[in-house]
Amino acid sequence: LATNLDRLGGLLERFRRDGVMNLIGGETVPAQSGATFDNASPVDESHICAVAKSGAADVDAAARAAKAVFPAWRDMGGTERKKILHRIADGIVARAEEIALCECWDTGQALRFMSKAALRGAENFRFFADRAPGARDGQVLPSDTLMNLTTRVPIGPVGVITPWNTPFMLSTWKIAPALAAGCTVVHKPAEFSPLTARLLAEIAQEAGLPDGVWNLVNGFGEDAGRALTEHPDIRAIAFVGESRTGSMIMKQGADTLKRVHFELGGKNPVVVFGDADLDRALDAAIFMIYSLNGERCTSSSRLLVESSVAAGFVAKLTERVKRIKVGHPLDPATEVGPLIHKTHFDKVCSYFETARSEGATIAAGGARVGDTGWYVAPTLFTGAQNDMKIAQEEIFGPVLTAITFEDEAEALQIANDIPYGLTAYVWTNDLTRALRFTDRLEAGMIWVNSENVRHLPTPFGGVKASGIGRDGGDWSFDFYMETKHIGLAT
Ligand code: NAD
Repeated sequence: LATNLDRLGGLLERFRRDGVMNLIGGETVPAQSGATFDNASPVDESHICAVAKSGAADVDAAARAAKAVFPAWRDMGGTERKKILHRIADGIVARAEEIALCECWDTGQALRFMSKAALRGAENFRFFADRAPGARDGQVLPSDTLMNLTTRVPIGPVGVITPWNTPFMLSTWKIAPALAAGCTVVHKPAEFSPLTARLLAEIAQEAGLPDGVWNLVNGFGEDAGRALTEHPDIRAIAFVGESRTGSMIMKQGADTLKRVHFELGGKNPVVVFGDADLDRALDAAIFMIYSLNGERCTSSSRLLVESSVAAGFVAKLTERVKRIKVGHPLDPATEVGPLIHKTHFDKVCSYFETARSEGATIAAGGARVGDTGWYVAPTLFTGAQNDMKIAQEEIFGPVLTAITFEDEAEALQIANDIPYGLTAYVWTNDLTRALRFTDRLEAGMIWVNSENVRHLPTPFGGVKASGIGRDGGDWSFDFYMETKHIGLAT
């Protein structure tokens, strides 16, 4: 911990001195109004740096820069774009430790997970780099009188709006395919975690990405974010965040007919049948809710466990939850760090009272840890019913709600009885049941006898209030590109 803190101290000096400013057309610039806001660490509420508080004029400058350079970037060969994107990945790998340390301090996420998240960001760039040369691939569909060509072209400058949970990895996940497709980008990162978005844009600049292809505009959702979604030169918005913000963005973008891609909230079930490998299921259920502070869209925040095995399973779970190590995010032993900010901490803590008033049991946690920083104890609610708020609402912290079910039909009914549909996890050794059950589950992504393991060629996205559209593989290009038909008379 001491070594990491020492190293971090050196890394933060530049942010203290220069703040986190915008990057527009290759120039580091403050907000045109000169306004800034304070960025504080969730670890101890200490000031990290000032951040540019951008408004519509800054977004306009960034959108113009992205528009001006779009034709050149679009027309650059995919092979050339591939080389640049690989150089960005190299830059991420070279600075992975710096990224991880800054991200932990900015977000409260534990270092043991963030070191991997930085490298996963590099993988995202490599994956889409390799696909850049084929991004325009189409088909020939001859008819009696026409040679019909179907091809793809990049849609134009796009806006990318990202949240504060794993901000680095999520930014790479959206920006890498946009660049590979030939789009230019204006990125508005979350106001609560601006450090690594700035590092990422710098890495891209150092990798030789032409000025204006990637612009960074900091600020709040209601002004900078809103202006981006309303800007006429921005052709599409890739957004990751809360479901209700997605709904606002859809309204804001209506006048300019924005194409939208939404990765939104979740309240994902992990369904454990009595015939499953219960030890593996226990490990996975714990990992999927108590890693990344539970501030994870794909977390398994509802445990549905078959009544025949529930008592033993929940007893073991309770013991394990009580032993999870809460601590400083830069301590390599820490599993759960502080939540992102006071408002979110207050929201998460409010569910402890909600659980009591709804008649559930707090089997573990249910309290603040320490009196500095936004730490909460890993929490387990048991004896819950699916109509309780603790079972229906996205808490977005290290909080698991356990519900029992009698049979497969009831498990399915509970699993689907929720506004969300991002992921689901199913544990059973009955293959027929797995096929039947997953076919009927309302979720965009389902893992059977596994925690969430991302394979980049597969589709990523949610149904119902959890999202619109898919990322990953070629699906990302469906969003960032237009499909074009050309019919030639033969
Ligand atoms: P949020 O919706 O509050 O903010 C996300 C981003 O939107 C921020 O950059 C914010 O400034 C911006 N924003 C806010 N209001 C806006 C507006 N009116 N117009 C334009 N931009 C606006 O979300 P958050 O609290 O930062 O992130 C947590 C949420 O993100 C959770 O609900 C989580 O489930 C979700 N999430 C989903 C996925 C997924 O893949 N489905 C991944 C990560 C996070």
